[in-house]
Amino acid sequence: MGSMDALATVLGDPARTILGLDFDGTLSPIVADPDRAYVHPDSVAALRRIAPHLLQVAIITGRPALKAVELGGLDAGEGLGHLVVLGQYGIERWDASTGEVVSPPLPEAIIEVKQALPALLAAAGHPEAWIEDKGRAVAVHTRRLADPAGALADLEGPVAELAATHGLHLEPGKNVLEVRAGGFDKGDAVRDLVERLDPATFVYAGDDLGDIAAYDAVEALRGQGRTGVLVFPAAPGEDSPLAARADVVLEGTDGMAEWLTGLADALES
Ligand SMILES: [Mg+2]
Repeated sequence: MGSMDALATVLGDPARTILGLDFDGTLSPIVADPDRAYVHPDSVAALRRIAPHLLQVAIITGRPALKAVELGGLDAGEGLGHLVVLGQYGIERWDASTGEVVSPPLPEAIIEVKQALPALLAAAGHPEAWIEDKGRAVAVHTRRLADPAGALADLEGPVAELAATHGLHLEPGKNVLEVRAGGFDKGDAVRDLVERLDPATFVYAGDDLGDIAAYDAVEALRGQGRTGVLVFPAAPGEDSPLAARADVVLEGTDGMAEWLTGLADALES
């Protein structure tokens, strides 16, 4: 399926289509400080035009839901009534129609991991690695360090061991190690949306290893009489296992913004 076929699929039955989108690297260009991320302005504008036509637009992210809402300015303005932000891989659910987040309490294990991390990073020789508190998850970023890949290699073993000791899961990404509470991944988030809303078509766009579970879930829908469309916004020069599985490969967050704008134009015409 090419880019035009993917658009045609959505346009065939928009009211029964769910559009799922990763946040960082898909809607939001990757920046050195995750707190200073922003959503590509053309993508936000396009989503405001797209959301009223679709069954659901769901941003599915490892970030806390409210953080993505704040960084994207998603709580202001019109058009996003059909938008939900599934934060922390679907554990939190922010609904634009109510402006509220629903989420369960923090498990003890993730609190203990957060407390143990600074000493563990220091013991592994990288006390300056950046720890990002993501609520039910905690991320160790090495991209600000002199040798991000080397530091990641040094830290992966000890962080994995710490996670395992507390019965938690380690999710490696680009210059980041993330420890998460619960068995939630983006695949669970996709399956939950399908169960709630019974779509004919699920379009999913994502760029990183955490999106593989969502790709798996969307591919599985194809065997259940539904249409699954996979969109991959590739970073320049990137070699990713997602590229070969995607129906549509775009040029990063700029390409994503263009594709969403094209979809908005088509839905309105
Ligand atoms: Mg991403």
